[in-house]
Amino acid sequence: MTIREAPDLVAIVLASRPEWFARAACRGLDPELFHPERGESVREAKATCARCPVRQECLDFALDSPEHFGIWGGTSGRDRRRLRIGQNQPRRKPRLS
Ligand code: SF4
Repeated sequence: MTIREAPDLVAIVLASRPEWFARAACRGLDPELFHPERGESVREAKATCARCPVRQECLDFALDSPEHFGIWGGTSGRDRRRLRIGQNQPRRKPRLS
């Protein structure tokens, strides 16, 4: 499965209906921005996340769902793997600064 074939961010989040998504900075944006193909820039997605009022909630959601692709809470899949590896206790979630 390629990244583009993965379920998109909006569909996943809307299906689970977390209340915080109503305040997401990415609402109405192209979901493909948040699911780049290998080698494509994530700068615009991460810039959007940086100003998002629900970034922490989004990151927590993604960390609870390791199969999710793309940018969540300002992190890539690789970033999240590093965060998980950095956590000696898998139930604890990192706090964004
Ligand atoms: S942190 Fe990023 S991906 Fe998550 S809801 Fe906010 S803008 Fe969307």
